[in-house]
Amino acid sequence: CGVFGVIGVADAATFVALGLHALQHRGQEAGGIVSYDPEAGFQSARRFGYVRDNFTSQDVMQTLPGELAIGHVRYSTSGDKGPTAIRDVQPFFGEFAMGGAAIAHNGNITNANALRRELIEHGSIFQSSSDSECIIHLMARSLQRNIPERMEDALRRVEGAFSVVAMTRTKLIGVRDPLGVRPLVLGRVGDGWALSSETCALDIIGAEFVREIEPGEMVVITEKGVESHFPFRRMASRFCIFEHVYFSRPDSILGGRSVYETRENIGRELAKESPVDADLVCPVPDSGTPAAIGFSLESGIPYAMGIIRNQYMGRTFIEPTEQIRNMGVRLKLNVNRALIKGKRVILVDDSVVRGTTSRKIKEMILDAGAAEVHFRIASPPTAWPCFYGVDTPQREKLLAATMSEEEMRDHLQVDSLKFISLDGLYRAVGEAEGRKADCPQYCDACFSGEYPVTPADQIKEGFQM
Ligand code: 5GP
Ligand code: SF4
Ligand code: MG
Repeated sequence: CGVFGVIGVADAATFVALGLHALQHRGQEAGGIVSYDPEAGFQSARRFGYVRDNFTSQDVMQTLPGELAIGHVRYSTSGDKGPTAIRDVQPFFGEFAMGGAAIAHNGNITNANALRRELIEHGSIFQSSSDSECIIHLMARSLQRNIPERMEDALRRVEGAFSVVAMTRTKLIGVRDPLGVRPLVLGRVGDGWALSSETCALDIIGAEFVREIEPGEMVVITEKGVESHFPFRRMASRFCIFEHVYFSRPDSILGGRSVYETRENIGRELAKESPVDADLVCPVPDSGTPAAIGFSLESGIPYAMGIIRNQYMGRTFIEPTEQIRNMGVRLKLNVNRALIKGKRVILVDDSVVRGTTSRKIKEMILDAGAAEVHFRIASPPTAWPCFYGVDTPQREKLLAATMSEEEMRDHLQVDSLKFISLDGLYRAVGEAEGRKADCPQYCDACFSGEYPVTPADQIKEGFQM
């Protein structure tokens, strides 16, 4: 998901809509905005679909007045539960003795089921099926006098990944979980401030990137400025390494590094680790593009757009059902036949999850008369599900959970298939020494099976680490 918030500028909701539009790659199912204006009070709008189709018309935007607003773009990470209901669309709103508050959450709470059960036993009435709603109910039960402190109380009980943007009548609040699994950044916009999942959304509103919110940090922003707290026990950071590989936009800056450059480095590492003689390096667009460029630069094999992407389709993986996903590849990608015929082609993609994309693309490319097909993948085999906010399927559906690299090659029937090593990936994100086995610098659980936060709910449901 993507979260965004603005304080201290006129028509804050319009800025939020633009920010969410720049974060659309983080969630395409639905979006919502809450605003506050002293006369109008709290106002909200929640819609299915793209930001550009919902939050551009005057009809909607004039219902969201004020100098303070937050928003959320949603992609459901609760597994195979089917499509989102509108009541699951954030931001969530709560009315407390000291006034209202709205929150928008990116990440997944790994003890949400346990918390929900406990809260319901104590009288909470849940409105949605979302894990994030727990935060509001925990805040309601807190005895603290002000909302930021209630939020601290609530979040101390929450396990898993959270980057939260929240607002009261006078404050914009941002928090990252102690491991800092999901991103969150601070920006300056005119006399006001912005919080965003990624820096690319600061650019769109002309905000200046100030800094990242630190793992375990809470910032409370008012007219007077930014106040910082560290309400949790300090821990070593475990940022999601997959944000670098796939999830974030290439024009964002993460941990002081350009995501684009990191992905190009990944391609270079891949070329060093798994070279192959071929005529062309082609990305599986768009997610494989920077890595393919890196692979081409390192290997000297020409880069070419052997697959053309229809720009009007969304991210295939994000469509929740298997059937749509299966069709999706063909609807979204097509082979540039004239270029491919008779060529030995290296295809570079960011990841293999179920193997659906790679299988279809291999078929399309062979159909077009390619002489050889070699896959190079910009992440290690995805062998474990993510419980921290990226929608990987159950373990059984992950190709790499049951097959070795050679078995996957055989299954996909390609001439070769190579994944970047975990150490190679760490080098590409700037860790010259690679991965520190005793204290890994990132979360890489979907590749290593080492979960930095025990997924308590999932273990209760039978998941075996
Ligand atoms: P597959 O077709 O193997 O199931 O999925 C791999 C494709 O899904 C890749 O092209 C990748 O770009 C895309 N993808 C989209 N969203 C995600 C995600 O959340 N996780 C992973 N691992 N891949 C994703
Ligand atoms: Fe990121 Fe993978 Fe960790 Fe999920 S499991 S937070 S996708 S590195
Ligand atoms: Mg892709």
